[in-house]
Amino acid sequence: MKTSFILSAANAISDSILSHESALESLDRAIGDGDHYINMKRGAGAIIDMQAELESLSPDVALNKIGLKLLNTIGGASGPLLASFFMGMAKVIKDSGDESVSTYAAAFAAGVDLIRQRGKADIGEKTMLDVLIPVAHQFTALAASNTNVKTISVALIQTAEQGMLATKDLIATKGRAAGLGERAIGHIDPGAKSCQLMINAVCDLIVHQK
Ligand code: ADP
Ligand code: MG
Repeated sequence: MKTSFILSAANAISDSILSHESALESLDRAIGDGDHYINMKRGAGAIIDMQAELESLSPDVALNKIGLKLLNTIGGASGPLLASFFMGMAKVIKDSGDESVSTYAAAFAAGVDLIRQRGKADIGEKTMLDVLIPVAHQFTALAASNTNVKTISVALIQTAEQGMLATKDLIATKGRAAGLGERAIGHIDPGAKSCQLMINAVCDLIVHQK
C-alpha cells in the first residue's frame, strides 16, 4: 500500500460521508443522539486537512497518525473505536514489512479486532462490527485463496452491504441504542451504515483502478 492510496481513500471516504448526510443523521436520530454524521464529517475533514503532512510518511506511520487524529477529533463512541482500527492496521503493516494482499487482510482484521476489544462488543450487537467482522473474515479467506484484489473488492462491497442491512432486525446490546430494547428494531445502525459507506468507497476505488 502506498501512502498516496491512503490519501485517495481518505478523499473517497470523505466524499461518501458528505453525500450521505441525511441518511447518517436520521439513523442516529432514530436510535442514538443524532450526532453520528457530525462526528464522521469532523473526522473526515480532519484527515483531509492533514494531507500535506501525511504525504511524505510511510503507510504505517500515516495510518497511525490518522488513528491519533481521529481519537482527538471525533467525539462520541465512534471516535476511539475508529481510531483503534487505524492503529491496529498500522501495527500489522509496520511489523510485516511486505505488500501482499494477505498482509492487508491481516491488517484489516487486526484493526477490527482492536475495535472489538475496545468496545467490548461482537457480531450481532447492532454496531459497526456487524459490517466489519464479516468483511474481515471474507477478506482474510479470499486473500488466502489468492483471489485478485478487484474480485475481493467486489465481494467485500456486497458483504458490507449485507452486514449493514442485517442490523435493521437486531436489538442493540452495545452503545446508546442498547437502552431502546425492541424499539431499535426496524432501524439500521448508524455506525454500521458509515462503515459500509467507507468500505464501499475504498473498494470502489480499487475496482476502478487502472
Ligand atoms: P455516540 O453513540 O457516542 O453518539 P456516534 O453516534 O458517533 O457516537 O456512534 C454511534 C455508533 O458507534 C453506533 O451506531 C455503533 O455502530 C457504534 N458503537 C457504539 N458502541 C459500540 C461498541 N461498544 N462497539 C462497537 N461499536 C459501537
Ligand atoms: Mg451518536
